[in-house]
Amino acid sequence: MEIRAIQGDITKQNDVEAIVNAANESLLGGGGVDGVIHYAAGPDLLKECRTLGGCKIGEAKITGAYNLPCNFIIHTVGPRWHGGNNKEGELLNHCYKSCLELAMQHGIRTIAFPSISTGAFGYPIDQANWVAVGAVYDFVDNNPDSFDLIEWVCFDKNTLKQYEKEIALHKSGFYEDVDPIVKKEELMALLSAYNPEVHTNNVDGFDELEDDDYSIIIKCDGDEYLYVDYVDGEFTLGFGGWHTHYNPYRKDYEDCLRTLNGILENRTAAVKVMSNGEWCGSWITSADKCTKKDLIIEARRIMHRELIEKTKRNGYQIECSFFDKSKNSVFTIDLDSSNE
Ligand code: ADP
Repeated sequence: MEIRAIQGDITKQNDVEAIVNAANESLLGGGGVDGVIHYAAGPDLLKECRTLGGCKIGEAKITGAYNLPCNFIIHTVGPRWHGGNNKEGELLNHCYKSCLELAMQHGIRTIAFPSISTGAFGYPIDQANWVAVGAVYDFVDNNPDSFDLIEWVCFDKNTLKQYEKEIALHKSGFYEDVDPIVKKEELMALLSAYNPEVHTNNVDGFDELEDDDYSIIIKCDGDEYLYVDYVDGEFTLGFGGWHTHYNPYRKDYEDCLRTLNGILENRTAAVKVMSNGEWCGSWITSADKCTKKDLIIEARRIMHRELIEKTKRNGYQIECSFFDKSKNSVFTIDLDSSNE
């Protein structure tokens, strides 16, 4: 079973039983890859398409391939991009699923997709790629041994790169799930030397946690604390007023562990910007970047514009918190130097 992306003209593929057409609701032909497929297949394709009664967005219909070197064409209608909050992802996912289901029903084991929706329908390629590749991997996970080859035939190099990148992430295990319960034991072992407190919904005051949720808290000097929790289906790591979320995927979780170790070993500091007693931004940085000059540059890069404006009006402090409190530092940037 192979999943890959190649560059080429989808109408010239002779190693697949079916190609997918990115059609429109009428199924009567159009521009882009649809036009090219109709042209290459010949007018009998249109005759068959007229009998199908169109196709809804996210669904798929199958026809013969006429003059094309494959046996079938699966026509699907991708969503038009309306900014991303109009079920575009769900519909695009459904296109891939519908095509693969239909192919499976016809015993098709090799299939080529174009980059659905990313042409005239305007779906940004860096959003379409992960939806598309995720949909295919999901389908294959749920239907193992159903296909021998699923590929994207991309017309241009950038599109190819975007699919290749996403496929490589899947192959590297980026999206493999980690088991939060197994990770809880590993985290406890890693943190055992630091007197961790563990909160689950068995602990008073934490009743709102779900059964498998947990929060591991380490009190540092003063009122600072470090925590890593698994709540609402994601990991969160927090320290010194900074926190971030990680998906329960292997790659994300490894990022979380790397940062956690960096904090414990004082290689990573949490940075907080305060202006007139108000919080203006937090991030983490490596210990060797905790100089006034580097921190000012980072602050300008990371903070939102309105927060930068606030710090410019009032001056600000940058606080670096380390796990070992004796390494902490505070830099005060007055009005003049912040306006440099
Ligand atoms: P949509 O309307 O779904 O956006 P388009 O046909 O406009 O579909 O574009 C989808 C993708 O198909 C685009 O990336 C376009 O460059 C590509 N494309 C165009 N012609 C071909 C072809 N002959 N083979 C493969 N891909 C093609």
